[in-house]
Amino acid sequence: MSKAITKLRVLGQDLAIVADAELVNDRDAYGEYRGLRGEIALFPRATPNRQGDTLIHEAVHVLSDRLDLGLDEGTVRRLAAGVHAVMRDNPKAVRRILAGRRIVGSGGTSGRKNA
Ligand SMILES: [Zn+2]
Repeated sequence: MSKAITKLRVLGQDLAIVADAELVNDRDAYGEYRGLRGEIALFPRATPNRQGDTLIHEAVHVLSDRLDLGLDEGTVRRLAAGVHAVMRDNPKAVRRILAGRRIVGSGGTSGRKNA
């Protein structure tokens, strides 16, 4: 079993990632962004896929808060699920992005920019 991740950096701020086994019972949620405490709580017994989706969900809450986007819960849920699906469906593209490598070469097949 690989080591757990203990922090998430969002816009230069490190948030602690903590396990909270009571989340589902207490809040009917798999995760919670606790802005005042600078932490994101996750339900430790959720599936890996659910934890990944929840981590992105909470990160979108942080972005909404920090960038003053005012996203409502439904928008956060749909946006996070969509971003998570794109990441899951495109591991090669995600690895290239994280490695700072080009997606297409300078002599790429498309003549359009940011189409
Ligand atoms: Zn939420």
